[in-house]
Amino acid sequence: MAKPASRIKAVEFRNYINGKWAAPRSNDYIENRNPADTRELVGRFPASSSDDVDAAVEAASEAFSTWRRVPAPRRAEILFRAGEILIKRKNEFARDMTREMGKVFKEASGDVQEAIDMTYFIAGEGRRLHGFTTKAELPNKFAMCVREPIGVCGLITPWNFPMAIPSWKIMPALVCGNTVVIKPAEDTPLSTYNLVSACEQAGVPPGVINVVSGEGEEAGAALAAHPSIRLVSFTGSTQVGRIVAQQAALNEKICSLEMGGKNVVMIMEDADLDLALEGVLWGAFGTSGQRCTAASRVVVHKKIAKRFTGMLAERVKLLKLGNGLNDKTDVGPVINEEAVEKILGYVEIGRREDGATMLCGGSRAEKGDLKHGYFIEPTVFADVKPKMRIAQEEIFGPVVSLIECRNLDHAIEIANGVRYGLSASLYTCDVNRAFQAMENMFTGIFYVNASTTGAEVHLPFGGTKATGNGHREGGTQVLDVFSEWKSVYVDYSGKLQRAQID
Ligand code: ADP
Repeated sequence: MAKPASRIKAVEFRNYINGKWAAPRSNDYIENRNPADTRELVGRFPASSSDDVDAAVEAASEAFSTWRRVPAPRRAEILFRAGEILIKRKNEFARDMTREMGKVFKEASGDVQEAIDMTYFIAGEGRRLHGFTTKAELPNKFAMCVREPIGVCGLITPWNFPMAIPSWKIMPALVCGNTVVIKPAEDTPLSTYNLVSACEQAGVPPGVINVVSGEGEEAGAALAAHPSIRLVSFTGSTQVGRIVAQQAALNEKICSLEMGGKNVVMIMEDADLDLALEGVLWGAFGTSGQRCTAASRVVVHKKIAKRFTGMLAERVKLLKLGNGLNDKTDVGPVINEEAVEKILGYVEIGRREDGATMLCGGSRAEKGDLKHGYFIEPTVFADVKPKMRIAQEEIFGPVVSLIECRNLDHAIEIANGVRYGLSASLYTCDVNRAFQAMENMFTGIFYVNASTTGAEVHLPFGGTKATGNGHREGGTQVLDVFSEWKSVYVDYSGKLQRAQID
């Protein structure tokens, strides 16, 4: 268990600019408190202003001229070293993450592991970064295409995967030869600091990575609007993503957005219900329902709906809420007071406005030590109709809605009937149905007989519709975000040759 607040020394953190840890110009700080027990102060982090952002962007611009010339395999060697440091410090970083974000220790370790996986995977790409050659239409002329770095990238990240998501952005940006300024989420800057410290220790040169922490509307907005930033990579809410995209449009920035989801598990009447139950519990209540791929809707075939609903409610009541550092805890807190209010607001909407049946949960948990944190009882709604608000809007908390369907086509229609398109899953033992759903679900990620969460770093990650703007993170596809194509023609004919004319 976490130590009582009185025994923990609050550390004052600094921004990381041009290889130095620097206090914010304003000298203002934001407190980072443990959401499982707000008496525990994790640290104080800079509330940076646009002046700090300017200094970081200037350092990154300066560093770009040399970093882009470092051969990609050499850049990758540094990243491999960072990966080794992350492995060595995995437990320590996972503990820090549980303290600042609340997710249970096992999941926090998974988050650090994802950063390790991404670092190694992308470092491997340093020896590929493939371009291509093709035949020119004229004789004695050579044609090829190479990847070029873009410049200074502004990275804006959320709190739910505090190390994994920064790694998805920093590592590919760096291996492609870009430099970065990252603005971590207000609630979870420590994990970004830990990741960046590992990169510093691994030998990433000054100015190549810069960290400026602070409020989204101040530091984040300044970064998104900065004229010297050539690319903004954002993960967060659809609402803020739109603002970031509008800013980017004003000075022709490349803009990669990863936003909301309303993910779905579909369960057919022939499914292995025990397996589906485990998938729903993991998808809906893991990370307290605060993953972008969390399963917040379960579409169940009417023949097994009653049975499955009973099975689910029984298990959900047994889930243990608590501090994520306690290994008996199944579900940690949600991130902050604002999240508590938003989630309980949706519970009220489900109950009153929508008229769905609440089977369990629905309240803030305040027994014993839980009263010091942001805990919400895992909540299940049954009799939910596809157009109800709780079935349409992203709740981002431990709340799941059960919706009945008549058959697979009906399930797919319901599943696709939301504005988002991140992740979907189908439980069935019928291979034909599995392929039909795979073909007809409009989501970026689809699972068969597994939950909606569980992305691996070497496959593209992202969604359709309001979830994104067409880009993908992860996989080699992320290199398309962080590099630009240069087409090169070499004419060795010794004379003027005119394409499309000669
Ligand atoms: P979440 O609540 O899921 O973290 P947000 O979209 O609110 O989603 O925040 C994601 C990131 O965007 C955070 O780092 C936040 O500080 C930042 N942010 C919030 N508002 C703005 C803004 N107006 N401009 C740029 N970044 C912002």
